Amino acid sequence: MHRIDNFNAGPAALPLPVLEQIQREITDYNYTGMSVFELSHRSDTYESIQAKTEARLRELLSIPDGYRVLFLQGGASLQFAMIPMNFLGRDQTAAYVLTGVWSEKAVKEAQQFGAVRCDEQAKAGGYRTIPAHLDVGLLEGAAYAHITSNNTIYGTQWSSFPKVNVPLIADMSSDILSRPIPVQDFSLIYAGAQKNLGPAGLTVVIVREELLAKANQHVPTMLDYNVHAKNNSMYNTPPTFSVYVMGLVLEWIAEQGGVTAIERQNAAKAASIYSVIDEHPEFYVGHAEVAARSAMNLTFRLRDEALEKKFLAEAKAKVFVGVKGHRSVGGCRVSLYNAVPAAAAHRFAEFMQAFARQHQ
Ligand code: PMP
Repeated sequence: MHRIDNFNAGPAALPLPVLEQIQREITDYNYTGMSVFELSHRSDTYESIQAKTEARLRELLSIPDGYRVLFLQGGASLQFAMIPMNFLGRDQTAAYVLTGVWSEKAVKEAQQFGAVRCDEQAKAGGYRTIPAHLDVGLLEGAAYAHITSNNTIYGTQWSSFPKVNVPLIADMSSDILSRPIPVQDFSLIYAGAQKNLGPAGLTVVIVREELLAKANQHVPTMLDYNVHAKNNSMYNTPPTFSVYVMGLVLEWIAEQGGVTAIERQNAAKAASIYSVIDEHPEFYVGHAEVAARSAMNLTFRLRDEALEKKFLAEAKAKVFVGVKGHRSVGGCRVSLYNAVPAAAAHRFAEFMQAFARQHQ
């Protein structure tokens, strides 16, 4: 079998046992004589797939009662608009913590619907940090506060979350299920599936019922959270195959020992690469400040630009895929989502170690 060390930022690596199960079930799912692609979303079989996926998510993240889980489409990017459309009135203000490109995009959408106040501490320093404290003025009278738990492009991550006295909303697209999270501290969590949850085409939303009750009334049907909640995410055809695969991914996470065990594995994977950066400060430079480092997306550059080109070319030749940094930051980025095996991270760390030794 030909599998590669895949460090793509998303869509990204999926667990091999999940792919193998899909392969086994692709022509005949559970004696239905058809694939999940071909099932009606109104069938009992699909309903049970979706219900199981939801139940597994609730269990893994310890989602308390009083929250709805929604399976939507449009990517995390549509959430940037749906959130203010539903929860920000024209005469209201929302607070956004700018920690990277994706939070900037979220702000741009919110500004179409109401006033926005931004925390710019991280932006001022080139997005290397996560703010230690939020200004009280930022939150005063805000309809909600929005954060991005992991910044896929800059490689920074909130290690703990701010306690705020307004509804807290988080884009967790690039680190959901990578660690335990205090769901009860959030009013809404959203994530595009294509990093830690499964295939693209599915967006998961976990939303507190109290927030749903406060939503604006005049929202286009497909963009109205309450419509999706009332219809159990089946107002229209949900992304059935992606929901099925997400269910398999969640089962795999449970088999790994749940999110606490996954967090330990992720920390060890990330440490194997960060330690090479730290051992060779004259050769490699990490983008994120140490305290803000992400365990999911590791961003760094080589001090010597010509050598960086050579490094990327050699990484490619050794079939490490997805190592080139995002076009807006440059340098290198290695994404170590849940499904990236520890052995892949170690192989890459060894490559970095050997490259530094060879060129110093
Ligand atoms: N937020 C974050 C943190 C992301 O990493 C991404 C995608 N890389 C997005 C939002 C946008 O997601 P989508 O492509 O699903 O709209």
